[in-house]
This record gives sequence, C-alpha cells and structure tokens, in this order.
Amino acid sequence: MLPEMPQKGRAMTDSQFTPIPQMQAEVARLRAAFDSGRTRPLEWRRAQLQAILRLLKEREGDIIAAIHADLRKGRLESWMAEIALIRTEAKHALRHLKSWTARRRVRTPIAAQPGRSWVQPEPLGVVLCIASWNFPWQQTLQPMVGALAAGNCVLVKPSELSSHCAAAIARLLPEYLDPEAVAVVQGGPEETGALLECRFDHILYTGGASVGRIVMRAAAQHLTPVTLEMGGKCPVIVDRTADIALAARRIVWAKGQNAGQICINADYVLVHRDRAAALTGALAAEFRRAYGADPQMSKDYGRIVNERHFDRLQALLSQGRIVQGGRTDRGDLYIEPTIVADVPGDAPLMQDEIFGPILPIVEWQDEDDLAMQLKAHGKPLALYVFSRDQGFQDRALDRFPAGMVAINDLMMFAIVPGLPFGGVGGSGMGAYGGQQGFRCFSHMKPVLRRGSRMDIAARYAPYSGLKERIMRLALR
Ligand code: NAD
Repeated sequence: MLPEMPQKGRAMTDSQFTPIPQMQAEVARLRAAFDSGRTRPLEWRRAQLQAILRLLKEREGDIIAAIHADLRKGRLESWMAEIALIRTEAKHALRHLKSWTARRRVRTPIAAQPGRSWVQPEPLGVVLCIASWNFPWQQTLQPMVGALAAGNCVLVKPSELSSHCAAAIARLLPEYLDPEAVAVVQGGPEETGALLECRFDHILYTGGASVGRIVMRAAAQHLTPVTLEMGGKCPVIVDRTADIALAARRIVWAKGQNAGQICINADYVLVHRDRAAALTGALAAEFRRAYGADPQMSKDYGRIVNERHFDRLQALLSQGRIVQGGRTDRGDLYIEPTIVADVPGDAPLMQDEIFGPILPIVEWQDEDDLAMQLKAHGKPLALYVFSRDQGFQDRALDRFPAGMVAINDLMMFAIVPGLPFGGVGGSGMGAYGGQQGFRCFSHMKPVLRRGSRMDIAARYAPYSGLKERIMRLALR
C-alpha cells in the first residue's frame, strides 16, 4: 500500500513557496559554507553520496507515494526510472571518486623542464539545479551526485507542478544531506526568476526551451556557465530489416511510461513504407497487451500532469487519423495511448514536441527522404534506430545528429553509468551522468609546477640568433 497522500492535481499552494528574501539568504548561506572549505574533503563527498543511497533505501515508500500523487505512476516504473537510476549513479560515483578527483599528469615539454604538469579538478562553488516535473527525483538527485562528488554546494529548485514531490524533496534532503551545503527552495516562475538574479557558479536547468532561454539570459549577467537539459521531437526510425515485434514491444514500453511525458521518449515513428502496416498493427496489439482494453483501469498507466497539458494534448488528437486509442477523461487527467497516422507535416502534432501518449506514424521511402524528414525537426535529444542491417545503423549514426542514440532499443542508455546524458543544438547543451557529471561541476584546472634551480636563459630578452635556435629546439 502507498502511504496516505493528498489527491493528484492539487496545485502547490503559495504557502509552500519559499519567500524571495529567504531564497537569497539560502544562496548566501551556501556560499559561506563553500568558502569555509567544508565540501572539499573526499570524506565529506563520500558521506553525501552514501547519504543519498540511504535516503533512497529508507524513504523509498515516501518517494514512490509522492510520485504517485503527482503523476499516478506505477510503483515499479517509479522505482526503475527514478530510484534505480539515482542509485546506480551514486554507486558509480562512490566507486570512481578517488580516480575522478586525482590529479591527471600530462607531459611537460623541454622548454618547461624541470617541471611537472597536471590537471586538477576544482569544485565550482554553488550550483543551482532547476528541475522539471516529469522525473522530479531523478532530475534533482542524479545531477546532484555529480555536483556533490565534485565538492560543490547545491541549491535545488524542484518544479512547482510536481508539488508533492517538491514538498517531499524539501523535507527529506536536509534530513539526509549536509544542510549547511545542500538546500531546497520552492516556487514558480516568479520565485525562480528572482532566484536567477543571484550569482551561482553553475546552473543546471531541465525543462522546455523557452524557459531555457530565460535561464541562459539570466546566467549571462554573472557569466555563469549553464547546462541545459531540454527536449525536442525524438524520432524512432524503423527500417526494412527491423524486427517488428521487438520494435513494437520496446516502443510501447517507452511510450507508455509516465503517459509519454519523458524527454527522451519516442515522439514519432519514421517507418519504411514497406513495414508501416505491420508495425502499426504490432504497436496497437502491444498497447492492448501492456495496458488492457481499457488503459484507464490499468494500475501501470499514469496521468497527465495538469489540466493545461491535458488540454494541449487533447487538441493534438484532432490531427491525422486515429488508428487506436483517442479516449480522454479530463476529470481524471487521462489520455489513452493513441496511435495516429496520416498526420500532415505542418500540423502541430508534427511540429512541436508531443510530451504525451500520442504516437504519430510517418512513412519514408528511401534514405534521402528519411534524412529530409529528420532534418525538418532539428537535432533531437535522442534518436532511435530499429534495424538488423549494420550498414544502415552505421549510416544513421554518421548522418543523423542527435544528443544520444540507442540502436534497437529506447531510453536504455540512461542506465549506463559511463554514458553522459545531454542534448545538442535545440535539445540542450552540456551533459551530466557518470564522470561527465563530475566534470560538468568541476573546473579542470591546469597546473605547471616549476623548480627554481635550472633556468633556460634563451627565453629571456635581449634575443639573439643563438637564443632563437635554442628556443626552436626546446619548443619542437
Ligand atoms: P516546468 O514547467 O516544470 O519548468 C521547468 C522548470 O522551470 C521548473 O522548475 C519551473 O519552475 C521553472 N520555470 C518555469 N517557468 C519559468 C520562468 N518563466 N522563469 C524561470 N523559471 C521558470 O517543465 P516544462 O518546461 O513543462 O518541462 C517539459 C520540458 O522539459 C519538455 O520539453 C521536456 O522535453 C523537457 N525535459 C527535458 C529533460 C532532459 O533531461 N533533457 C528532462 C525532462 C524534461
């Protein structure tokens, strides 16, 4: 049984929001903590990562209940996509912390001899993490693993749209993590706007591109570097040689999760026209197998986050021809998994990121046609290719840009701790995850240490022909 939680759909009340002066005070407090040096020792970093693991273990019930209250996600789905991902990340960081933080020696040329050169990671300072609502815990704690491993203080601003998770994050993080160095503030656009006026040393933002621009503009005032985790239209390419049954099973597995509200989810399917009918039939059968004849009754099928997103998605259902699904219930924020065919290329369904359980099927004739259709949507956050032809797989990898790629699967790169997570172009900039997460929140500081005994006189003016010959030799 899930612990007693308030009903889904109740918005965060203003009383939950952190007053703006208090937000500013939190930033100052974290900066003082960073300046005190408490976050630098490896033992402190290790203790924080272990605390994250403890939190996930001891408060699993609270975490899953809060996600259920916000998004009606099933228990296993929440565990897999949030708790397990963060746990893997924290364990990976703990295992590699010593080597990540070690100085990396580089060769020193003759002209700088005797001397030693290395790159030394340095924490940045105070990191702001602004999260979206669709994976409230993963988007908060997974980047935090990298930021804490790198020795930073972290201020978290969860999305006000996933209000139960935001409240639970605000309650639990200070219980487990060093409250001097980690803080949570709550608020909507107005509070976040005010928060962004403060100076941070790095901002990690997850959400849509329009707010991404606001974040980047605000960061520019302080020359603060940003990592932007945004979205876009992620295509699934299915070629002539693909295993159709496998493709359908895996596409449905992804698209059904969180009622399709996942940034790396299949946005639309681009199938070779010879396989379009077979794939459409297989997808329809898979949706029925996974969620039954009436998915509204399925305990494994989630809900749309709020009325605004529900109305946006419902409006999209009027475009194209519905092959399966299409039923909705606004009172329950329910939209049935829906397959759509014959969507005009200029319809919003094919122009904007869907971020919901609607799956357009689009056909292609040859690789040039495929390339043209892909190009129309910019660089996606993720690209998926179903094919048994390695030549086709390699051509797709070479030819089609994307933040991340999975071949014959969807989304599973997210569980590989050594792979960075991030977009490119309009889908994002920078990445976190594994060592990349550590580096994202570190300055990789180059150091040259010289002794004072030997000195090559040729580098000093006044210069001569002999000095030039020596320096040309030394700097070869
Ligand atoms: P959202 O509405 O929760 O907004 C994201 C964050 O921005 C929230 O914390 C919110 O409070 C803040 N915000 C909203 N308006 C603001 C403003 N005017 N000024 C300052 N801050 C503001 O989330 P969303 O934008 O609906 O998220 C959905 C988008 O996020 C989709 O495009 C999806 O693809 C993308 N996304 C990307 C990733 C990723 O890892 N790349 C993950 C999840 C979602």
